[in-house]
Amino acid sequence: MEPTEAGVVMGHEAVGVVESVGSDVRTVKRGDLVVMPFAWSDGACEFCREGLHTSCLHGGFFGNLQVAGAQAEVVRVPLADGTLYALPVGSDDALLPSLLTLSDVMGTGHHAAVAARVGPGKTVAVVGDGAVGLCGVIAARRLGAERVIIMGRHPDRIALAREFGATDVVSERGEEAVERVRELTGGLGAHSVLECVGSEQATLTAVSIARPGGAVGRVGVPHYETIPAAQPTFYNNVTVSGGPAPVRAYIGELLPDVLEGRIEPGRVFDRVVGLEGVPDGYRAMNEREALKVMVGP
Ligand SMILES: [Zn+2]
Repeated sequence: MEPTEAGVVMGHEAVGVVESVGSDVRTVKRGDLVVMPFAWSDGACEFCREGLHTSCLHGGFFGNLQVAGAQAEVVRVPLADGTLYALPVGSDDALLPSLLTLSDVMGTGHHAAVAARVGPGKTVAVVGDGAVGLCGVIAARRLGAERVIIMGRHPDRIALAREFGATDVVSERGEEAVERVRELTGGLGAHSVLECVGSEQATLTAVSIARPGGAVGRVGVPHYETIPAAQPTFYNNVTVSGGPAPVRAYIGELLPDVLEGRIEPGRVFDRVVGLEGVPDGYRAMNEREALKVMVGP
C-alpha cells in the first residue's frame, strides 16, 4: 500500500445492521442485517445488468480517501439499494462468519472458479492457500470439480483445504511445482487453474500447469506488469481470464449453500479482535500467525 499523509479507514469486507438510510433508498431499511460487498454499485447500469458490478459506471471500491472502509464503528455505503444485500437472519446468527465471506473472499474464490471454467468432472489446481485460495477450493468442489489440487505450504491451511474438499497437495514451488502437477495429471495439466496470489511467480506457475485448452482464473491483484509465458499459453490455447470479483452478483447464488450449511467458508477466520486489536491482527496475518482475522464490534 502507498503511505498517505492523512491515513485511510481500511477494510472493505463487512456485514452489519443498517442504522439509517438516505431519502432515496428503497430496498434496505433500518434494522436490516446486510452484506456489504467490497465494491459499491448502482445495480442498474449496463455492466451491473451483465453481472459485472465491479465495473459499475457509478461504482467504486471501499477503503480509500474519498469513501472510508469498514474497520470503524459505522460505515457510509453509497448507492445502498444496488450495493447492499439484506440477509434473512439476525445479527447473532452462528453463520455470521460465513455470511461475511460473501462480501469478498468466498465470492472471489467463486469468481476464480467461474473464470477458470470449473465444471463437473474437471481437474482443478488452486495456486495459493490464503483465504481466497481456500474459498476457491470450496467453489471448485461446489461447481462439480472431481479433483482439486491445492498448491501451498502452510500445514494448517492445507489441512483446512482438505476439509474443504482438496484431493491433492503440492507444496513445491516454481518449476518443481509445475513438474509435480504434471505428474498428478498424467502429464497433461489441469483443466482449470485458480490464481489466488497475484505475484509474477504464482501467475507463471498458474499458466504453466493449465492443460491445452484449459483456463486460468486470476483473482490475485497483479503485482506484475505483463502476464508471463505468452508463447506457451498461445500455443496451448490457454484462456487467461479473471479480475476483481463482482461479488454482489454472486451472493444470491451462494447464500442458500451457506444458510443450509453445505459450505462453511467462515472457517477461514481463525482469530477475532475488536477495533483496538486491528493493528495486531494485521501483524498476525503478515507473520502468517493468523490466516484471516475477523473484526468484531
Ligand atoms: Zn452499475
